[in-house]
Amino acid sequence: MADCLFCGIVTGDIPAVVVGESTRTLAFRDINPQAPTHVLVIPKDHYPDLAALAGAGDGLLAEVAGQAAEVARAAGLESGYRVVFNTGAEAGQTVFHAHAHVLGGRRLTWPPG
Ligand code: AMP
Ligand code: ZN
Repeated sequence: MADCLFCGIVTGDIPAVVVGESTRTLAFRDINPQAPTHVLVIPKDHYPDLAALAGAGDGLLAEVAGQAAEVARAAGLESGYRVVFNTGAEAGQTVFHAHAHVLGGRRLTWPPG
């Protein structure tokens, strides 16, 4: 999708540090990390948010979740990690290409801010 930051990362027009990939998903480091491990997992196709991604069907959301778990495993986060889909502006979503944040490597408090 034109003018979408994460579509630009998928095409390679915008640089990113890629840490994992499948045919339909991409995992790359967040540019402003909030934890020692902070990776974003996205579908390569453009879906604006979690609801649209869930509606895509054919296992795409499960593939994103599986890639998130693989990122955590590869980062050695066996003691715990968090996977977050900020959904909607009020919840802090700023990039409207669905993405899962994978956060770990420090103690994560609850409730989140
Ligand atoms: P959200 O606020 O949930 O929409 O998350 C968007 C995330 O994208 C933020 O954590 C940003 O730090 C991250 N971000 C923005 N631009 C880039 C970029 N060029 N490469 C990697 N991460 C980015
Ligand atoms: Zn996009």
